[in-house]
Amino acid sequence: MLTVDKGTVRFSGHVALDAIDLDVADQETVCVLGPSGSGKSTLLRVVAGLQRLDAGRVFLGGQDQGSVPVHKRGVGLMFQDHQLFPQRDVGGNVAFGLRMQGATRAERDARVAELLKLVGLPDAQRRGVATLSGGEQQRVALARALAPRPRLLMLDEPLGQLDRTLRDRLVTELRELFAELGTTVLAVTHDQSEAFALADRVVVMREGRVAQSGTPLQVWQQPADAFVARFLGFENIVDATVTGDVADTAWGKLPVPPGTGQGTCQLLVRPAGVRLTATEDQGLPCAVVSRSFRGTHVAVQLRPPHGPRLDAACGLAEAPDPGESVGITFAAEDVVVLA
Ligand code: ADP
Ligand code: MG
Repeated sequence: MLTVDKGTVRFSGHVALDAIDLDVADQETVCVLGPSGSGKSTLLRVVAGLQRLDAGRVFLGGQDQGSVPVHKRGVGLMFQDHQLFPQRDVGGNVAFGLRMQGATRAERDARVAELLKLVGLPDAQRRGVATLSGGEQQRVALARALAPRPRLLMLDEPLGQLDRTLRDRLVTELRELFAELGTTVLAVTHDQSEAFALADRVVVMREGRVAQSGTPLQVWQQPADAFVARFLGFENIVDATVTGDVADTAWGKLPVPPGTGQGTCQLLVRPAGVRLTATEDQGLPCAVVSRSFRGTHVAVQLRPPHGPRLDAACGLAEAPDPGESVGITFAAEDVVVLA
């Protein structure tokens, strides 16, 4: 459906998109995840035709979009801050794209009613935009983007403004809606939980390039490198030298999966793989620096004798207190070899 081929955008010498390659298949939901400034919005603007490429090409349905203007691309773009027209009512907002397409009044009214029902705001046509809650504005913006039946729907930080509970609910609703409509979706966000919940495939972006692409499970289980791992919130990263099935690190010897490349690399240990031993004189001795309650577990920060600090995920009952001394071992299944 969509192919970006070596897309490059420079802003006065600064490279916002650096020969980026991206494919989105028909009916696929791809979520681009990356820190602020990594080029996510620029990518969407390029696909929509709002930003000119300095090099590379964009194809939609196999056709080069180089000379195709914005309104002929058949893409819907929902911006970060909704950008609803404050002087128009809900119906007027949703009908906007249809009006641009030259739909008749009757066609517009029917489609607006259909869309408002779809997003859970039936009969809201005459309501003023200012009377809507954040979540409702979000739904209206979505209805407006979907109304002209875009072949590709693009969402820029779709749930960025909403509180966590509403966000979690809307993510689930959006996923169901996209499946039901068979919509092809390219969404961008800096929020990993949003990306992981929404996407069939996650693309992690760094400085205008793709750092990793894969299913949410693949990316979560095997971050490609230390950048992706840290961006996902994993901090237990250490330099290692692998010999056979053992890695030598500042934290001592760690088990690595059979077949791991020999020589130097970086290792990630997921917090669940940092295990407290029965008594403090067993395993690697660490001081407990802090603990914070996370609902399903307690995140404990540990200071080992050498090397970076360690995050451990402990059961609610067994979590030690700051100041205590503990011993730890590492579980092989939670050791990940990074590039
Ligand atoms: P993101 O959406 O991932 O936060 P953007 O695509 O908005 O990132 O921006 C990528 C980089 O390009 C940033 O360094 C940003 O400052 C720069 N940038 C974006 N738009 C412009 C512009 N119109 N003029 C100059 N620099 C820009
Ligand atoms: Mg942005």
